[in-house]
Amino acid sequence: MAESMGQLRCTREGHGQELLQDDSVPTETSIEQKRVEQCVGTIFNMYKTHIKEPNDLQPKLKLVLERDIHTHYLRKGLQQLSEGYECLDASRPWLCYWIVHSLGLLNEPIPESVASHVCQFLARCQDVNGGFAGGPGQQPHLAPTYAAVNALCSIGTEEAFDVINREKLQDFLYSLKKTDGSFNMHLGGEVDVRSAYCAASVASLTNVLTPDLFDGTAEWIARCQNWEGGIGGVPGLEAHGGYTFCGLSALVILNRVHLLDLKSMLRWVAFRQMRFEGGFQGRCNKLVDGCYSFWQAGLMPLLHRSLHSEADPALSLTNWMFDQQAMQEYLLLCCQAPTGGLLDKPGKSRDFYHTCYCLSGLSIAQHFGGGDILHEIITGIKENRLNHTHPVYNVSPDKVAGAIMHFRQKEVPQTSRKN
Ligand SMILES: [Zn+2]
Repeated sequence: MAESMGQLRCTREGHGQELLQDDSVPTETSIEQKRVEQCVGTIFNMYKTHIKEPNDLQPKLKLVLERDIHTHYLRKGLQQLSEGYECLDASRPWLCYWIVHSLGLLNEPIPESVASHVCQFLARCQDVNGGFAGGPGQQPHLAPTYAAVNALCSIGTEEAFDVINREKLQDFLYSLKKTDGSFNMHLGGEVDVRSAYCAASVASLTNVLTPDLFDGTAEWIARCQNWEGGIGGVPGLEAHGGYTFCGLSALVILNRVHLLDLKSMLRWVAFRQMRFEGGFQGRCNKLVDGCYSFWQAGLMPLLHRSLHSEADPALSLTNWMFDQQAMQEYLLLCCQAPTGGLLDKPGKSRDFYHTCYCLSGLSIAQHFGGGDILHEIITGIKENRLNHTHPVYNVSPDKVAGAIMHFRQKEVPQTSRKN
């Protein structure tokens, strides 16, 4: 299908002016940045040449999401992983979640028997004292607990819901809670904003959230927002995309976003979209990376919703507050591995983490709004369209609703605080 040259940001006259200006003072950072721009620029140029004069000798660069090869890569990963994944032996529920969620975005059903197999495996990762570990027999930890609950809710069957021991899960969350409102990632483990988000996410999905469990948490998260506008891992640290997503999402769940300076956060995240590449960086002066298409751009629906509730008249009713098309161009042209799966940036290899978060970001960029106001911006062919994702949980909105409805019928366990 021919695409008109005028439509795309990367083919526009003057796009080259977005390249980094280092004021003739090269630094390690500016040299790396220029190297990435050159690499991305070569791909954009190949695309421009290809649409101007299609020719069989040129590589076939198209704005097409290669659904079939991505699906094949994901389905294979759910059955058998290569030895390269040995280093992720303590993150196995994550692999389940990344793959199950990615297949959901691609609208690819998971056979019942495979889904059941995933449920049985995750049941083996659950600790007798609550929470999930990175693998059977390992120590329970909040990150794989989040991944396991998200994977089970994404599967959304009775069997999946029944895996979760809610009373023990609540005990586990209490055992990690600190007096200042923050949470340890695991017993004796580190404290940062991730743990607060993982705890709030699983507690809200499974209906074990109590005000007592999150007493002081919102105030602690608000202290992690710094002068840049974004959120750091703990109070006083540099703002970072992943932590900002975790902090804002946790506050949305706890219904306390007003504790943050939302406009300074919006300013920080808007400036993390790269002028030339179109994708996002995770921190100021860092390189573009496909996974931040979710961690950073995923903040935009949350900010939009929060600012909307303050009746901000400047808010658009058709677009998020970033260049949705530019990000889609980056993901489609620069982040698809030719053999399936998505990646950080050209030259890097594919993996399930980047496949999940590149696709999740692509979904955010394609769909604006919710409820009565929906506006789709699909870059490239219409078949690139992915399913929606819930911006707080990064699980399909239907599956979030299904889990909440299911667990709402059960009583909230009333464990009292032990420390
Ligand atoms: Zn990344």
